[in-house]
Amino acid sequence: MTEQSLLLIKPDAVKKNHVGHIITIMEQRGFTLKNIKVLQFDRKRAAEFYMMHAGKDFYERLLDFMCSGTTVALLLERIDAVAKLRKLVGDADPNKRAPDTIRAMFADGVTENAVHASDSTLSAKREIALIFKGAH
Ligand code: ADP
Repeated sequence: MTEQSLLLIKPDAVKKNHVGHIITIMEQRGFTLKNIKVLQFDRKRAAEFYMMHAGKDFYERLLDFMCSGTTVALLLERIDAVAKLRKLVGDADPNKRAPDTIRAMFADGVTENAVHASDSTLSAKREIALIFKGAH
């Protein structure tokens, strides 16, 4: 089924000028770019975006990182977009990343991991609304 998902190109990857390369990979893998937004997370919006991780030991570090620079958000569409994008992005754990994934190519660490992809269709709807329908 044709679905939409959200990809965030996180501040580490934006700082290293990987935006164009990552968009090219998305296009080559059959994703259609439906919307794009360049934004700066503030603490409030980062906390809302990552509310499911509140209280975890890496939470503050994650918020600091997300607020540390520019993020580029891509609204992407294709058949099975959510699952296909998660697979293409790769695991958060560096030891579990397949070599041809975005994170294997561009991530430096566990927190600084280049990209975010929605983990379910429900998350995708929530996150797309938060990024693209907000007043920011
Ligand atoms: P994913 O981004 O693969 O969906 P999670 O939802 O589990 O992963 O985590 C959200 C983000 O929090 C990760 O992308 C990463 O930036 C950070 N993170 C996750 N787990 C850890 C950890 N154990 N230590 C530090 N940062 C983490």
